Amino acid sequence: MSTKYSKIGLKAGLEIHQQLDTREKLFCSCEPKLFKGEPEFTFVRRLRPTQSELGQVDSAALFEFHKGTRILYEANNDTVCLVEMDEEPPHDLNKEAVEICLIASLMTKAKPVDEIHVMRKTVIDGSNTTGFQRTCVVALNGEIDIKGKKVAIQQVSLEEDAARKTGKDGQLIRYRIDRLGIPLIEVTTAPVIYSPEEAKETAFAIGRILRATRRVRRGLGTIRQDVNVSIRDGALIEIKGVQELELVSKVIENEAQRQLSLLEIRDELKKRGVKKEDITEDFVDVTHIFKQTKCKVIAKAIKQNKPVLAVRLSGFAGLLKKQLALGMRLGAELAEIARFWGRIGGIFHTDEMPAYGVTAEELNQLGQLLKMEPQDAVVFVADTLENATDALKAVTERARVALKGVPEETRAANPDGTTKYMRPRPGATRMYPETDVPPIQVTKEYLDDLSSRLPELPEQLMKRLMEDFRLNRKLAKQILNSEHLGLFESLARETKVSSTVIAVALTETLKALRRDGVNVEAVTDEQFMQMFGLIGSGKTAKESIPEMLTWLASHEGATANDALEALGLGMISRKELERWVDDVITRNSGLIEARGKGALGALMGMIMKKARGRVKAQLVNEILKKRLDAATS
Ligand SMILES: [Zn+2]
Repeated sequence: MSTKYSKIGLKAGLEIHQQLDTREKLFCSCEPKLFKGEPEFTFVRRLRPTQSELGQVDSAALFEFHKGTRILYEANNDTVCLVEMDEEPPHDLNKEAVEICLIASLMTKAKPVDEIHVMRKTVIDGSNTTGFQRTCVVALNGEIDIKGKKVAIQQVSLEEDAARKTGKDGQLIRYRIDRLGIPLIEVTTAPVIYSPEEAKETAFAIGRILRATRRVRRGLGTIRQDVNVSIRDGALIEIKGVQELELVSKVIENEAQRQLSLLEIRDELKKRGVKKEDITEDFVDVTHIFKQTKCKVIAKAIKQNKPVLAVRLSGFAGLLKKQLALGMRLGAELAEIARFWGRIGGIFHTDEMPAYGVTAEELNQLGQLLKMEPQDAVVFVADTLENATDALKAVTERARVALKGVPEETRAANPDGTTKYMRPRPGATRMYPETDVPPIQVTKEYLDDLSSRLPELPEQLMKRLMEDFRLNRKLAKQILNSEHLGLFESLARETKVSSTVIAVALTETLKALRRDGVNVEAVTDEQFMQMFGLIGSGKTAKESIPEMLTWLASHEGATANDALEALGLGMISRKELERWVDDVITRNSGLIEARGKGALGALMGMIMKKARGRVKAQLVNEILKKRLDAATS
């Protein structure tokens, strides 16, 4: 596997972002938490491109500005103050967050800086009310061991989390600013990862170290990965927002494959003799061809007096429908770019035709009008003249880049491991000092003190889980890879349930339930404690765990006892069990006649199956034996 990737020169680097579990946000005293339901107040801002000290303006930001994009910020009083609203300067840097970052740095052998300076990093998408994100380098040049190889950690930074996007209606983007200002640690590796598997191992190893500090937040969205991927002759692609560590390898596999396919397309275009000059911005108004069209999207646009514009892509026939990687095609990439730059719903292209109600006759006329040769493709768009023109400009530009290979861009990860175009890659990160926040000195005494009381490293934790709790290696590792180390320890110490049963429930059972769509995140630590308390005291059996968790996940505020009663999962009384045994003996008289006492095993199986763990096997055995003796004597 890794030889396959070394052949294509795969290189990857990771940026792991993890929210820290602090009492306050990074630059104010608000509680770091998210709110549900309707916001208590909102305010609107216009996106303005931020001019950095260097006078550079991001092309994408400038574009958004010209498009008149506005941002609607949603907020609640107890999660937001004037700082998040950019109405008041930031307060001093949160010392608790700095300390957690320094501890994590020391645990990755990174060297803390002497003085921590807060910087502003330009942000173009409105996810920050200020137009920039505050960030500071805390340590440099660490390393972690991945199966005997040293993976270099370039830097450890502390930064403020961004607002979370909650929607978009036309020119209005909605953000919720409760998340804005929650402290995030960012761990950046050097691009020295050479296979998807190694990337996954590295992501997990960094995750284990961060959780070993015992001071990071947990739950969906509290850890996010960005991945940088390139292959030889390809381009450096930045993929944002991989939500699960498990997905890291899949995203990299897909990206490597996508770049390889784009290089194949480049070679094919060369073979077809296509030149840059062949792809021109000759957009043709083809509205009249579609006056009677059965295509609903186009018919609707024409009714609104919007034109249909088309452009010929010389030499692209068949290439737009070519699969680049699982679920990704060049045609879709053109559409994503057209959507971004043209604000349009989508594009049509001849590789996918006839379809969507567009007829062969309409295509025929389209081909004639655009002087289309068999090797060519045509892309067409129905929208306002301005949007359609912007969209087709972006399409032709992207088609020209296909002659060179892979365009550098920022992509967004989808939950299935595919990616989509997000925006062009910004130039060198524009950073400038945040003068409102004084720097923090990191003294040798402070570092010595922190070093003397570092938390257990993942290797030490692993050893202890195996020794103290008698977990096997696999389960111990699963607990370390999960977010439930602390919960596991409390449950194992405070209930009488076996550590292995608890570990399986917190890892494999939760994973299976999550896959089945159960919102296991909603089950609180208190509910876990109650549930294992009931199991430990014999009120229900461990077999009830999946059903109880499923019930608790959808009953906020209920107790495990409520679940037990609602589901009828309490232990079966001796009296009831005796009735069951009598019943089984009566119904299986033939079997008992034939096998005598030898029928015990089969009868036992029937009762255990019916009871699904709500009885102790020993008790069933005892009663069954007695009754069987009586019946056969
Ligand atoms: Zn605040």
